[in-house]
Amino acid sequence: MPMAANPLGGGSFGEALAKHGLQLTREETRVLQVNVGLACDLSCRHCHLEAGPQRVEMMDRDTMDAVIDCARRFRFQSIDLTGGAPELVPDLDRLVRSLAPLTDRLMVRTNLVALNSGEGSALCELYRELGVALVASLPASNAAQTEAQRGEGVWGRSVDALKRLNTLGYGMPDSPLRLDLVSNPSGAFLPPPQQQAEQKFRSDLSRRHGISFNSLYTFANVPLGRFRSFLERSGNLEGYLAQLADGFNPCSVAGLMCRYQLSVDWRGRLFDCDFHLAQGGWYGGEETHISTLAELPAPGTMIPTADHCFACTVGAGFT
Ligand code: SF4
Repeated sequence: MPMAANPLGGGSFGEALAKHGLQLTREETRVLQVNVGLACDLSCRHCHLEAGPQRVEMMDRDTMDAVIDCARRFRFQSIDLTGGAPELVPDLDRLVRSLAPLTDRLMVRTNLVALNSGEGSALCELYRELGVALVASLPASNAAQTEAQRGEGVWGRSVDALKRLNTLGYGMPDSPLRLDLVSNPSGAFLPPPQQQAEQKFRSDLSRRHGISFNSLYTFANVPLGRFRSFLERSGNLEGYLAQLADGFNPCSVAGLMCRYQLSVDWRGRLFDCDFHLAQGGWYGGEETHISTLAELPAPGTMIPTADHCFACTVGAGFT
């Protein structure tokens, strides 16, 4: 599927790069991001993948085997499991056990709420045993804003999960078990500066709930999927895209994730990043299955761009 035309009608991402004498090209690939499926126990308003309880797409054992085989062949420095809610995918434990010895850093993204189930609790123990790093999404440091984005009752269950992770050693001072948080705005506006947001989260979570974490990352919402539908319905699409384009930070380009990683979806198909995955823009311009990947992308290879790339280069950038 081709990338969408620029709804701004001018000033595309490629032009913004060119204005600063930049190109989006690949460096050495050292990260494999694995999207294990679109099933989720939440239906967040900002989800670029439109994941939710009604989605049934999940990685099967054969595709997991192809991912494991790829990780064995190429020895990625880091492997990043994401979803949907990875916890809902049957055999995730087997995938995690198989991948952990094949990389320096295995990380799993979690919405926190999914860790409260029986399977989620067992996975927490497994993550601890294998030293898996956790990246937890938490839109805000208060109940009202978090629940506006994620639904009623989500705040209490997120706090419960964070407390349990702290008890296991995650995010605690001097512990090797890393717990990072990711927050994003609740509407069509940009996130506050990362350092300022981290201070607020640390103070609020510690003071009110005794919760510790390592770092907080703030990311802009990506104008795709459910968030794009919201922008269209509310008449905010054009204004939001203009905000992203106006906030273009050329210094963020060097660290963009697409320069160092490959993304694979629940069916084993390859993409430059999770956002191109959401839009259906193939890695290399055509459908390629991970089992047929003969070599990693050569440094210097151009990466196709689209308007949603502006969400990665605003403020601190999306790495
Ligand atoms: S959406 Fe972001 S990560 Fe993906 S290609 Fe564009 S700049 Fe890179």
